[in-house]
Amino acid sequence: MSDAPLILKAQLARQDFALDVALELPAHGITALFGPSGSGKTTCLRVLAGLERQARGAVVVDGQTWQDSARGVFLPTHRRAVGYVFQEASLFDHLTVEGNLRFGFDRTPAAERRHGWDHGLDLLGIRPLLPRRPRELSGGERQRVAIARALATSPRLLLMDEPLAALDAARKAEILPWLEQLHEALDLPVVYVTHATDEVARLADHVVLLDQGRVQAQGALTEVLTRTDLPLSRGDAAVSVIVAKASGYSPEDQLQVLDFDGGQLMLPRARQQRLATGTRVRLHIQARDVSLSLLKPEQTSVLNVLPCTVVQVVDDAPGQVLVSLRPGDDTQLLSRISHLSARRLGIAPGLRVYAQIKGVAMVR
Ligand code: ADP
Ligand code: MG
Repeated sequence: MSDAPLILKAQLARQDFALDVALELPAHGITALFGPSGSGKTTCLRVLAGLERQARGAVVVDGQTWQDSARGVFLPTHRRAVGYVFQEASLFDHLTVEGNLRFGFDRTPAAERRHGWDHGLDLLGIRPLLPRRPRELSGGERQRVAIARALATSPRLLLMDEPLAALDAARKAEILPWLEQLHEALDLPVVYVTHATDEVARLADHVVLLDQGRVQAQGALTEVLTRTDLPLSRGDAAVSVIVAKASGYSPEDQLQVLDFDGGQLMLPRARQQRLATGTRVRLHIQARDVSLSLLKPEQTSVLNVLPCTVVQVVDDAPGQVLVSLRPGDDTQLLSRISHLSARRLGIAPGLRVYAQIKGVAMVR
């Protein structure tokens, strides 16, 4: 696949709704389409998949024009190399998992196949599930099979519409690590619809926020997550993502040292293997795990203390404020503290503070 961006320009009017988007999305990695119910997320996927013939605009995938209303181009769904995964995995109950995958594979003309029928098997860990029937699968396993079946068709674009929304927290936790690997493993753009902040933080590289059929904001994950004017930073799940590189390991303390633009963080090795130097990881830091101090805390059990500049302070939940901080030029960090503390410390844009970070989670 080339590096040509995925283009989605669509205007579509329904009775009580109008979609009007013009997007150029990265050719690789996962773009999260985030927004409240009814904001037009599924409609965007339907346009990409060729299910909205009346939409005005254009769809260009991997340099191929699938739709262009100005030129009267419209490829029907069956001629678009698109994999589509829904909230409820629609597997054939009368076929085994293997049969389901082969069905996806056989549907694709030989000339358009870019992988074997088992391309997604190891990627999604479903080799052991091949002889089973769909009714013998857990909800998380069903979704993994549905994704592998979509990949078996050699898609040039993978669409996922709230694939985890029907799963409970435990099933969701089980499937997320499989989805995380897709970023690097897949050579195609993935558009992933969700209204869950944690899924965006875990999976997305690029984020598009939709509101009432329009693009409210878009950009790299790390930026969009921490913008205090946007909904992703609202609520208890507010989180910052820092991209860091393993730089060292202290065997004595069993601590992994990670460098990022703006400083260094240390992490207990926990379950993870010690990382090879240079390994890139994503770190998640919950806003509620970051407290602020004007003086450098010396006598504290908190391992990670970063000097930062306050960028913005906004009212959040009752009695609380959300503070966005910059430990480095390209890194943003969110902190949620009480209104009272913010007033006592005089937290305001431009102030230099120390962020004490109580918890850092390594995602990948
Ligand atoms: P989301 O996926 O973000 O929840 P949708 O794209 O499904 O939103 O829907 C956007 C809007 O279009 C909603 O207001 C919905 O009620 C409306 N809508 C969806 N499908 C149809 C349809 N077939 N006919 C008329 N209105 C529809
Ligand atoms: Mg929807």
